[in-house]
Amino acid sequence: MSKLLRLPCPALDSIRANAVLWSGIDFGLADFSNSSKDILLHPYSRGNGREWPTEFFAELAHLIVKEGWRPVVGGTASDAQVFGLHQHLFPTETLVALGQDSLSGYMQRIADSAALVASSTGPLHVASAMGKPSVGIYAPKPRIDKHRWGAIGPHSCNLQQEATCQTACSNRDCLCMRAIQPAVVWQALQAQLTAASLSRST
Ligand SMILES: [Zn+2]
Repeated sequence: MSKLLRLPCPALDSIRANAVLWSGIDFGLADFSNSSKDILLHPYSRGNGREWPTEFFAELAHLIVKEGWRPVVGGTASDAQVFGLHQHLFPTETLVALGQDSLSGYMQRIADSAALVASSTGPLHVASAMGKPSVGIYAPKPRIDKHRWGAIGPHSCNLQQEATCQTACSNRDCLCMRAIQPAVVWQALQAQLTAASLSRST
């Protein structure tokens, strides 16, 4: 794009600042140094994108609880139906917030949470633009991969398998998404949480 327009590519910081500005949402008063222990898990994309298996989110939720954080599952009311089949896999400490928020309410929930984990979805980019620690999970397929759609926030990490995604993969069941283990996601998120808290204290 920058070649086409013959303009220099803006710095990532200014892209981020503009993304927040263009969203029209006022994050000015959000307290980013909050001490929330909530880690928002956003498992679904209404089938629009590659999804990480719900049972992996459940495993991740157990790791989150073990370290003293609280998993919060976010999404729409229709996601609640799919989630219901897997809810028993999640630790009892999990807060299920599916369908509970308006769009702006969900933005606020993201702002109030400590971190977010999702596949390639809007909420991931919102959290990322807010500078929240976040992990995005991507499939190695041209046009949907992390090189094109990866979150660009200062405390975002995009995970993706190296091997190319097979045509047999579908949005709801992708072997390449399954290849990314919950422990790896948790490790990546912990690194972002640590980096964010260090950058706040300096
Ligand atoms: Zn795949």
